[in-house]
Amino acid sequence: MISVEQALEKVLSYIGVLGEEERPILDCLGQVLAEDIYSPISVPPLDNTAMDGYAVRSRDTQGAGRQSPRFLRVIDTVAAGSISKHEVKPGTAIRIMTGAPIPKGADSVVRFEDTDEPQRKMSFTEIGILSEVKIGSDIRRAGEDIAQGSIVLRQGTLIRPSEIGVLASLGRSMVKVIRRPVVAILATGDELVDINQPLPPGKIYNSNTYSVAALVVRYGGVPQILGVALDSEDSLVAKLHMALDSDILITTGGVSMGDYDVVKDILANEGEIVFWQVRMKPGKPLAFGTIKGIPHLGLPGNPVSSMVTFELFARPAILKMMGKKNLAKPTIEAIIENPVVNSDERRIFARAVVEKRSGQYFARLTGPQGSGILTSMTIANGLVVVSEDKARVAAGDMVQVMMLDWNEEI
Ligand code: AMP
Ligand code: MG
Repeated sequence: MISVEQALEKVLSYIGVLGEEERPILDCLGQVLAEDIYSPISVPPLDNTAMDGYAVRSRDTQGAGRQSPRFLRVIDTVAAGSISKHEVKPGTAIRIMTGAPIPKGADSVVRFEDTDEPQRKMSFTEIGILSEVKIGSDIRRAGEDIAQGSIVLRQGTLIRPSEIGVLASLGRSMVKVIRRPVVAILATGDELVDINQPLPPGKIYNSNTYSVAALVVRYGGVPQILGVALDSEDSLVAKLHMALDSDILITTGGVSMGDYDVVKDILANEGEIVFWQVRMKPGKPLAFGTIKGIPHLGLPGNPVSSMVTFELFARPAILKMMGKKNLAKPTIEAIIENPVVNSDERRIFARAVVEKRSGQYFARLTGPQGSGILTSMTIANGLVVVSEDKARVAAGDMVQVMMLDWNEEI
């Protein structure tokens, strides 16, 4: 039976980076930029004031102080968004609001609090300057953020809110990114009933489609829900053919010992079986192959197994397709508070609650680790990893924990 690493390497060897698409910037959060971005403009476009105050010639403020105001004639007021038609000549000042372009003739800004404006009640035509300012004081220079023609973002950059903001500051509404993978999701099992239907005796609700689809969305893919296939060749083949325009097909169920025959036969006829069974717990019956050239991950049907195997194999596949480089799940070291027995030399992923106490992480198992106990996944925020060559872990040992809800490591 192959190891988790070998299985992941196999899966990723069948996965390529997808092509690019042009999208509205707000749709691109979490995608990878597929073009170099050069700035067509300077940001800010003009010298402007960083503070509310008075645009002045710094020479006119020489010798100004609280006890020795220098009085200047106020010739205009300019707000952000407007350009003053006036020029600041010796002995004059223009009242100016944050972001407004610096008027001609001015070389610095005196903040309101360094003038006598707070003491003035009525409208006024002159202002007392109470402190000297140097040339350039409180002026934001044109292009100080981005110079016109410069490269701002490089191809391969992950688009986060800050990149979206920078694109907007250049006036870009659309951008080229590596497209999101379409992930076809098919649940298999005669026992499955879709949500919103009455539950007949002997049946269970199809939860895997929904947990898997939510994971697909979380990691940036587009789920294409194909519904439920019965455990028969005809039903499976019909549904599988609906997946042929997707980038990857994820099935759940139908891969455990007895069931696998049907899926295996179909894979053998219509594609290729790359591996079946991985030395891990939960998730041992995982299958991987291709169907008509499309990668196919056959996740085990048990609801916890399908989520854990998704995190380990489908997530990196999706991230790789999106052009991302960091495929590893964030992992920390914690002191485990319960013993774990590893009876059959598999890699164990035990659901746990991780807490930080006095600067140290502690991991406590969620309780029974049956792979059908899906609520344990709602309690857990991490998976304690016990390697296959460790027969047991004692309470108090240091363990690796894969964090379920953390963003990428830096
Ligand atoms: P299988 O891998 O098909 O043998 O399924 C293993 C277990 O997971 C069985 O108890 C199934 O009833 C259950 N199961 C399979 N598919 C789903 C599903 N889509 N939603 C919830 N439970 C499932
Ligand atoms: Mg089944």
